[in-house]
Amino acid sequence: MTEEKVKVLIIGSGPAGYTAAIYASRAGLNPVLITGGEPGGQLTTTNDVENFPGYPDGINGPQMMMDLQKQAERFGTDVRYGMVTSVDFSGYPHKAIVDEKHEITAEAVIISTGASAKYLGLDSEKEYYNKGVSACAVCDGFFYRGKDVALVGGGDTAAEEATYLANLCPKVYMIVRRDELRASKIMQQRVLNTPNIEVLWNTETEEILGDGDSVTGARVVNNQTGEKREIDVSGFFVAIGHSPNTAIFKDYLDMDETGYLKVIPGTSKTNVEGVFVTGDAADKVYRQAVTAAGTGCMGALDTERFLQSRELETV
Ligand code: NAP
Repeated sequence: MTEEKVKVLIIGSGPAGYTAAIYASRAGLNPVLITGGEPGGQLTTTNDVENFPGYPDGINGPQMMMDLQKQAERFGTDVRYGMVTSVDFSGYPHKAIVDEKHEITAEAVIISTGASAKYLGLDSEKEYYNKGVSACAVCDGFFYRGKDVALVGGGDTAAEEATYLANLCPKVYMIVRRDELRASKIMQQRVLNTPNIEVLWNTETEEILGDGDSVTGARVVNNQTGEKREIDVSGFFVAIGHSPNTAIFKDYLDMDETGYLKVIPGTSKTNVEGVFVTGDAADKVYRQAVTAAGTGCMGALDTERFLQSRELETV
């Protein structure tokens, strides 16, 4: 095991991690950023980002992440490809192991590990991923304006996304596997009162259909009657929840029952001093690139203040 001491360690390379890196490096904190298994995060799986302020013509997701990396490196962030495989926050300074072979000891840690969308697990879903299949209606819904779409899920996210899509698309099929929605009452009412949303109750997706280039429909089955049906749609949205990438922190950090890290409200501080969390790892509500970037900035500023207060204590 090789060893190294750093001032600030940033774990994760989405908009939250890179924004934290830009602020921390401009503050002279020489951060080391470990990218994680999907460098650039969830945005690298999106074609066009049209809702990030400052890009009037939109920007390609992977390009945006390369730009953020360049911006962080310009101010001195040491970006490294690798995976933090475990941490030890039981003492101080904090420890993280990278790729099971390199130990980093850090005065402060900023967690920006994000979350991953859950998928149904169908082969056809993989085949048409980004060719009509998407897990983010707010990101990709606009590309299907004027076209019929389907959306799977019955929670608050699905309800919110179905009503969002209903403003853009003539018809939204909402595929729900039970005979009720899990979503809050108010969101349920909104869905049921939207005339161009058709809820397909007790329904599961057997296959997403396409012509090789893009989605053309879906074959669904009623799990009570066995009746199959094909629906014609150009977009297929999956909204069955996200999993935050926080498993390695479970022994040290407070999290809710679904694994989202808890922060002291209005800050990026976790229950462990000197460990901060930014982006989707602590956000199951907004989950946007711009909100992740905003909390990344908070993480760096909280870190700077934490390190300053420690320095004052030791003077
Ligand atoms: P969720 O509450 O876990 O709901 C997931 C939905 O997907 C459920 O309806 C579930 O069905 C369905 N589902 C799961 N696996 C499936 C599968 N393999 N096939 C078909 N359907 C499947 O997830 P969420 O909607 O993303 O919400 C996560 C949390 O964030 C919740 O606490 C929610 O209240 C919160 N949230 C809040 C807001 C807001 O306040 N504005 C907005 C979004 C989310 P079953 O019901 O049958 O299990």
